[in-house]
Amino acid sequence: MSMLNIVLFGPPGAGKGTQSEKIIDKYRLVHLSTGDLFRNHLSKGTELGKLAQKFMDEGKLVPDEVVVGMVENKIEEHLDARGFIFDGFPRTINQATELDKMLLSHNLNISGMISLEVPEDELRVRIKERGKTSGRTDDQDDGKITTRIRVYQDETSPVAGYYKQQGKFNAINGVGSIDQIFDEICRVMDQFPS
Ligand code: AMP
Repeated sequence: MSMLNIVLFGPPGAGKGTQSEKIIDKYRLVHLSTGDLFRNHLSKGTELGKLAQKFMDEGKLVPDEVVVGMVENKIEEHLDARGFIFDGFPRTINQATELDKMLLSHNLNISGMISLEVPEDELRVRIKERGKTSGRTDDQDDGKITTRIRVYQDETSPVAGYYKQQGKFNAINGVGSIDQIFDEICRVMDQFPS
């Protein structure tokens, strides 16, 4: 169990992508963002991209088996990495248990979870702001933003409990300057067993 494997958790707009960039820079981990992987497939027009498109477009979750297969491929491409930062995954309890199984089959595990906590009003402001430059249609429509926040509350937030049970849950205040939040993340990460 010598990898540093982090789950970066939080609702859409919490700053997972922004903080991931800084974490991979400092800790030299492989960034595994399922949202980015899907957008890549979409832009290349792959079968997987076509399958994911309608779910993404509506702000709903892509079916677990599709996500899990994609993650498994990515992990297996990088078994020599210092570790992974899982960004936007797992998003359901089932994804979390599948991730544990995948890692265990390589004698690996999750070192810890970091949960970025941001109030809903602030999420909406941030997502709309990002939509001005991201080109993401799911960032530009109030209805889609609402769906994504609801899906997070209903299907994803229970994943925090899964990691709490394992003693791996760490909450961080996601409101503040990017550097301030990053310092907090580092303080927590430096306590993780690697
Ligand atoms: P994100 O970039 O993390 O906001 O993800 C954008 C969209 O991709 C989501 O709204 C979902 O439709 C899909 N997606 C990303 N990650 C997952 C996941 N782990 N499980 C299901 N769907 C996902």
